[in-house]
Amino acid sequence: PIRWGVVGATTIGREWMIGAMREAGGEVVALMSSDRDRGAAYAGETGIPHATTDLAELLGSGIDAVYIATTNEKHRAQTLAAAAAGKHVLCEKPLALTLADAREMVEACRRAGVVMGTNHHLRNAATIRALRDAVAAGRIGKALFARVFHAVFLPPHLQGWRIKDAAAGSGAVMDITVHDADTLRFVLGDEPVAVTAMTQQGGMGGPGIEDGVMGVVRFRGGALAQFHDAFTTQYATTGFEVHGSEGSLIGTGCMTQRPVGEVVLRTAQGEEALTIAHENLYVRSVTAFQTAVRGEGAPVATGEDGIRSMALALAALTSASTGREAPVEPGI
Ligand code: NDP
Repeated sequence: PIRWGVVGATTIGREWMIGAMREAGGEVVALMSSDRDRGAAYAGETGIPHATTDLAELLGSGIDAVYIATTNEKHRAQTLAAAAAGKHVLCEKPLALTLADAREMVEACRRAGVVMGTNHHLRNAATIRALRDAVAAGRIGKALFARVFHAVFLPPHLQGWRIKDAAAGSGAVMDITVHDADTLRFVLGDEPVAVTAMTQQGGMGGPGIEDGVMGVVRFRGGALAQFHDAFTTQYATTGFEVHGSEGSLIGTGCMTQRPVGEVVLRTAQGEEALTIAHENLYVRSVTAFQTAVRGEGAPVATGEDGIRSMALALAALTSASTGREAPVEPGI
């Protein structure tokens, strides 16, 4: 089995990823937390045999790969240390706070010859894959527009650094729009070139921290995509739609961590519910990553994908602050 070191005593680890590593046949060997007591308690609760506060000790504990899920400002240094130690890196999104840092991380992994993945889970959703396959098969003709509905409610146990700590990379754009960016690229099979966006402070985010955003993205092939992301909407539904010259794809309930949702295709022939074989998104992500570590294929979302999703999110923030359309420039 692939032996994992987990960096960060996090909610995502507890709720999804540690279980996913085990279900994918991996072994979770060690945990690193910045706090000894909290790390030990977390390791006990999640059944991880070894806990440390020292990254070098984690990297030296006989592991093959690290899963980095600390707050966003820590991803860079931890990825560079893991790559230098020859460990494969599955890193959470956003990869970093700046594109230069994200590029440095991807380059360090490339030079070290280790696999690097970005944990953009939505590519693993059966709904999102059905949307992508239908677009690629030409079932809606030319894709003209996409609409992403990803306004959610940040539950009380997550109302921490995401809405309070700008130094940790807070805000709805770096948290949610990055996922939209990756999912749009994946479904449309196209690259964004420009974005215009407006952000909102709806009462949850701390001073200067946006808790909602709406925007429009232009893609190279001509498609336009609108996105709506928020932490503040308790009663909204999520969805992902693609509207083409010959049909429309309507995905509902699909912008989520859970394997749920449906996709309907509407054309001149009428309405057809696409067949969706739901599976755990995170198990699928880890399985592909482990396969790549064994030398076959690539992570579902690579380090480059992580750079590209950040490029769109950062451009959306630039647009919101300048009041102008901003170019999307990943620099790779
Ligand atoms: P958490 O807020 O649960 O944990 C982040 C950090 O906060 C931990 O690394 C931990 O530090 C510290 N921490 C946790 N509990 C406490 C506490 N009680 N007191 C003080 N510090 C504490 O983060 P999330 O799990 O929500 O997110 C982690 C990363 O994963 C982010 O990069 C996020 O963007 C990403 N994410 C990705 C998702 C996806 O589906 N791809 C979904 C959710 C998050 P330490 O480790 O040093 O103890």
